[in-house]
Amino acid sequence: MTASQPYRLRLPGPTAVPERVRQAIARPVLSHRGPEFTAILRRSEEMLQPVLGTRNRVFFFSSSGTGMMEAALVNVLGPGERVLISTHGQFGERFVAIAGALGVRVDTLDIPWGLAPTAPQVEERIQNADYRAVVVVHNESSTGVVADLAAIGAALRGRDALLVVDSVSGLGGVEMRQDEWSVDIVASSSQKALMCPPGVGVISMSDKAWETVNRGDRLSRFYWDFRKARAAVEKSETPFTTPVSLITGLHEALQMIHEEGLPRVLARHQRHSRALRAGCAALGLTSYPKAEKVSSTVVCLDVPEKLNGKDIVRRLKERYGTVIAGSRNKLDGRVIRIGTMGCVSAGDILMDLAHLEATLAELGWAVMPGAGLAAAAAILQEESYAR
Ligand SMILES: *Cc1c(COP(=O)(O)O)cnc(C)c1O
Repeated sequence: MTASQPYRLRLPGPTAVPERVRQAIARPVLSHRGPEFTAILRRSEEMLQPVLGTRNRVFFFSSSGTGMMEAALVNVLGPGERVLISTHGQFGERFVAIAGALGVRVDTLDIPWGLAPTAPQVEERIQNADYRAVVVVHNESSTGVVADLAAIGAALRGRDALLVVDSVSGLGGVEMRQDEWSVDIVASSSQKALMCPPGVGVISMSDKAWETVNRGDRLSRFYWDFRKARAAVEKSETPFTTPVSLITGLHEALQMIHEEGLPRVLARHQRHSRALRAGCAALGLTSYPKAEKVSSTVVCLDVPEKLNGKDIVRRLKERYGTVIAGSRNKLDGRVIRIGTMGCVSAGDILMDLAHLEATLAELGWAVMPGAGLAAAAAILQEESYAR
């Protein structure tokens, strides 16, 4: 890539990092145990708590999201114990693969892709077996579906099973109320709606989860041991050398979120995703999810029969420098996915649609010129006037 070629990172993660955050990351590296950095760590925790909707302590790890998925399981499960995992998309299936590697007993709640698990489905399953944990992906990035955690959390309240949630692609873009919804563990990471480069993993856990995590008979754990993280956080530290520069960037990103105001940030994600979906529908690309709650951080689109998603993705990149995602699972070629998470403007949405329309036309899928832009603009304007 040369400087003159555009590069628009429009994936459902990693996402474009705002200039302010990049500047913060470029500052001189600090001692990970010195007062300058521990203040940043403490403040980052305080600013992340309202985003998580929790008063729990927040732990930071050097990791991508998958490390946090594994970390949640090794801290909660004991050898041979049972876990119920909802498989309503690729990331649910990744949890099954991780749990399978750990020597625990895995049951799956099989949900057709495009739908979300419901509380009655979870309830029915937990009545019939003794599960240590129920695992649910909050925002399934492979399908663009959001699970109703409030209802699932209510179904598990007062029971032994812990609710373990992956909100890697949700947190900061989709509402999360960990305490109110009785979510025991939230796992997330920096490179999606939190507007940072990949590399920082985030965990917060309830007191109920801590009772289990603190037992001596869990799976083998060392680097991921939440007991160590909890002891360190009392001193505003992390057990091992933390990615200080990335956390300094996260601190800046969280400051930006709070300057804009969390409710406005969440409303902006909804507005942009809605506008993009409407624009794409006008181009003949319909929204893939069939669930009641559709993601506001990722737009997942059906590709018309006559076309292949891979061609759209390739051409958008090669001709327009717009980098979107296809699919790396059974939907390969059949869906395309565009991120609406993090640092995204109304202009980005319109540019996506202009590039998409031109690309589709080049691939022989003719649409009325400007149809996508008009449909999106109607939503973007309508809501900005309403503010
Ligand atoms: C991106 C993502 C992850 C984490 O993937 P990594 O590549 O390990 O960061 C996990 N779950 C969901 C739902 C995701 O979207």
